[in-house]
Formats: sequence, C-alpha cells, structure tokens
Amino acid sequence: MRQSKLVIFIYSFLIFLLIFSKSVTAQEVEDQTQFDYSLLDAKGPGRWGDLKEEWGACKSGSLQSPIDMSSFRVEIVKKLGEIKRSYTPSNAIVQNRGHDISVKWLNNSAGTIQINSTDYFLQQGHWHSPSEHTINGRRFELELHMVHLSFDPNATYKIAVIAQLYKIGPSDAFLSKLIENVMPIADKLEERNIGVIDPEDIKMEDEREFDYSEGGEKGPAHWGDLKHEWSDCKKGGMQSPIDMSSDRVQVVAKSPDIQRTYYPCNAILKNRGHDISLQWLNNSAGMIKINGSADNYILQQGHWHSPSEHTINGRKFDLELHMVHVCPDPNVTNYIAVIALLYKIGPPDPFLSKLIENLMPIADQMAERNIGEIDPNDIKMGGRTYYRYMGSLTVPPCTEGVIWTINKKIRTVSQDQVNALRTAVHDFAEVNARPLQPLNSRRIQLYDPNPENTPN
Ligand SMILES: [Zn+2]
Ligand SMILES: [Zn+2]
Repeated sequence: MRQSKLVIFIYSFLIFLLIFSKSVTAQEVEDQTQFDYSLLDAKGPGRWGDLKEEWGACKSGSLQSPIDMSSFRVEIVKKLGEIKRSYTPSNAIVQNRGHDISVKWLNNSAGTIQINSTDYFLQQGHWHSPSEHTINGRRFELELHMVHLSFDPNATYKIAVIAQLYKIGPSDAFLSKLIENVMPIADKLEERNIGVIDPEDIKMEDEREFDYSEGGEKGPAHWGDLKHEWSDCKKGGMQSPIDMSSDRVQVVAKSPDIQRTYYPCNAILKNRGHDISLQWLNNSAGMIKINGSADNYILQQGHWHSPSEHTINGRKFDLELHMVHVCPDPNVTNYIAVIALLYKIGPPDPFLSKLIENLMPIADQMAERNIGEIDPNDIKMGGRTYYRYMGSLTVPPCTEGVIWTINKKIRTVSQDQVNALRTAVHDFAEVNARPLQPLNSRRIQLYDPNPENTPN
C-alpha cells in the first residue's frame, strides 16, 4: 500500500471570539498612517492605546490578542462546541489596506460558521507575518485571520475569527491563486475585483474528510452523518448521480441551446485527494448560458470520476468528466451547472494526453501544479444530444439545485489514462464514483434535435 506523502504545513487552527459592545465593523483599522508595528516608534504597538480615545482597549483591555498557547495554560476539552462551517463561492475583492492584504467577500454571501448556535457571516481574510499567536512560545511564518460577523442583536459575541498558522514548506494553494492579483496593488492603497472565490479552497483540515469505501465509516452511506452541513447527502431528495433509463426519460425535440463561450486561460492541476481537478484561474476561462437565460455560469474547473457516476440504462462507463460552472449572481437559485462527459475504454482522449505528464509530480499528495494556458474548447463535447435533470454535487456537501447536462455521446479514453488518474489520487479514492441515488419525482429530459434517430 502506498503511503500518502501528504506534507502537513498547516499547524493548527484556533478560534477566538471578540466582544464588541458598540457598532462593529468587519475590518481592522483602515488607514496605514494611523498606526504601525515598529517597537520604538511613536505609533508602535506600545502606544496604540494612547493614539485615539476609541483605541483605549489596546492599552487598558484585559482580553487582548494575540496570546501564547502554552501547554500549561491550555485546558483540553473533548468537544469544544463544534464549528459548523458552510461556505459558498462568492464574489470577492483583494484589498491592500496598507498594514495588510485582505480578501473581502461581498454582500455577506460567502456563507457562515455557526458557534453555539449563533451564525457568523464570513467577511474577509487577511494575513499577518510572522504569526501573531504562538504555540508554546513558537512563532510561525504566517497567520491567516478569517473574520466573521454576527448580525444577531442578541448575540453576546459579535465577531468570530478563525486563525490558521503556517510554517515554511510547500506552497499554500489558496495563496498561489491569489498572488497574481496582489502584485498590481503592491504598495498602493487599492483594491481589485477578483471574481468568485470559494472560501472552502482555504484548507482547514488535512485529514481526509470522506472516502468511497462501501462499508467504511467515511463511505458514501455515511457522508450525510459526518458533518451537519453535509446532511443533504442523506436527507436530500434530488441527489446525484442517477441512472438515465429509457423508461424514465422524456424526449424533447427542441434543444434549448447551451451557449458555450470558452477561452484559453491559465490553469492549475490539483490533486484534491479524492479526485484530480483542473482549475482555471481568475474566472477567465469563459462561461455557458443555459435555456436561453441571461445568466452566465462561469467555468471553474473540471475533474474526473472513475468509473462513471451516471449510468445510461444501467450501464456504467469507465470515466466521467465534470465541468463545473458557477453563476456569481446571488439572486440565481440554481447557481451551479455541471456538464458531464462519459468515456469508455478505447483510443486515448487527446485532452487528457496533454495533461497526463503533469499528473505524476502531484501523484499521491495534496499538491498542485501550474500548467499554463489550457483551452477548454479542446475538450471535445461532440454530439448535440444530452440529458438534463436537476440534481446535486456528487461529493459532500452534496448541495442540491445543480443543473446537470450529460452528453449522450460516449467518448473514449485509454486504460492507461484511467490508470494514471487512479494512481494519482489518494488510495482511498482510486475508485471515486458515488453510488446511484433515487430519482424520486424528478424528470429527466433528453434533448435530441433528431428524436427519430434516437432509439433511447
Ligand atoms: Zn488580524
Ligand atoms: Zn464530480
């Protein structure tokens, strides 16, 4: 059995609650000229409490941060009231605040954490270097603060911060993506739109959270019990994947087009442990429009499942590609659209052939690799016949409301290519297809411009 070579560089994560009695803003102070970090300076940390009347707490407060977490000060508890995180991809800006760089999610739409049944909305994340908190006196190279706010007037604590510490080692995937947006605002008090950013991309846990083992306690049958925010995996009535049997399918002659407008765009290949994902950067790989609606679903990433998750008349195929698109408009209810392509063993898939040499360096580790410009148009869709139904993500949190489009044309992939994908992911996901889910009362439509040609 291969050992996973996961390098753990996230040391620990901590939470703190801050008490604010008056009106609260999510930000730490904005103006760089108002304070600094020099120990001897008149505006340094030792003087912050004297600089402004409303900064008195810096000096006279008795619950100040940061602190050292020394073993002898720490009380170990079995369960420290669970943190329920449910984040959503949402539009964000990156902001140079002079004293730090901050990623700020807009309109309170990036999701929440729940602590002791109070919801705290994610506002922004920013970095301190070196770390502010220390563990047993040890300081780390970087500290991320994820700032959350409660709008509940009855909540005792208004602000909740999740802090994560980093030491020098392999690159942090989230920062890698961000860094090219930071360069243009270097040394300027400016901000920059960076499109949709998924806070889930900030990895907080290194251990695998779920797997595909049939009887295992982290297997598909238990996904819905593993976390509160994964309950859709168990309770949802519109789960994916499903079987597309002829007797369930309604044939629709007129195909409302999927308009695809893709562009070549810089991408990374990422080993997420449970799959290999090709992620286009900066929301610039283009979009699709569905059913003639004006909403733009922006291409985020593609990833592979093997064997296939969806089946046609009970037949499972060897590989399934999911092209994931997200609509950034907060008013759109069904904001995720996935196009699925099915493959059976045969001649190699030309698109995968190009990627495969980048797979080995990230095999078996949670790593990623810049692979330069990748043109999503190179993924040949072929065929204008496809299935459409409403379903869910096929991995936790199994979010529902996903618009599924499954291309009916079966493409080919070589056995070597399937093997390469399987070896690259972690052992627990060599087979990474979720079992079929009940159809319930859903409709499956088969859009076929020439229905008489389709025996299905
Ligand atoms: Zn901070
Ligand atoms: Zn998928």
